Amino acid sequence: MNQREYTVLKKEEGQSFNQIAMDLKVDIFQVKGWYIDEIKKRKKKEDEEQWKRIEDDSIKHKIKWEEDETEAYNKLIWDTHHTENWGVEHDCRYDDCDGKISRKVLSHYENKYAFLECSLCGRHQKWLRYSK
Ligand SMILES: [Zn+2]
Repeated sequence: MNQREYTVLKKEEGQSFNQIAMDLKVDIFQVKGWYIDEIKKRKKKEDEEQWKRIEDDSIKHKIKWEEDETEAYNKLIWDTHHTENWGVEHDCRYDDCDGKISRKVLSHYENKYAFLECSLCGRHQKWLRYSK
């Protein structure tokens, strides 16, 4: 352990600068300087770690956002490709929506034929059975 490390350790153990300076046989300003340097160094490290965390969160957030975007986009593509009829007259089943038109989307389930989705709010309306 060098004098600098000794100073920090003893200071953290509760010794006074005066005592440490006497033990090390150096000037009190010397030990104070060492200690302050150490505090600054730690502060800098903490700041860097904090920035790193903020940056990581921001990257994670961005990735999540891109995934959501991709998912929404893929759904839109899928829906568009599978929409058989864009103008089925149907009153939206939800009270908070005035939709009068639904689109008929072919199902990706084998046992189901298609479903209606409100063109205004985009919510599922009902499943349609195979006709005939
Ligand atoms: Zn609706």
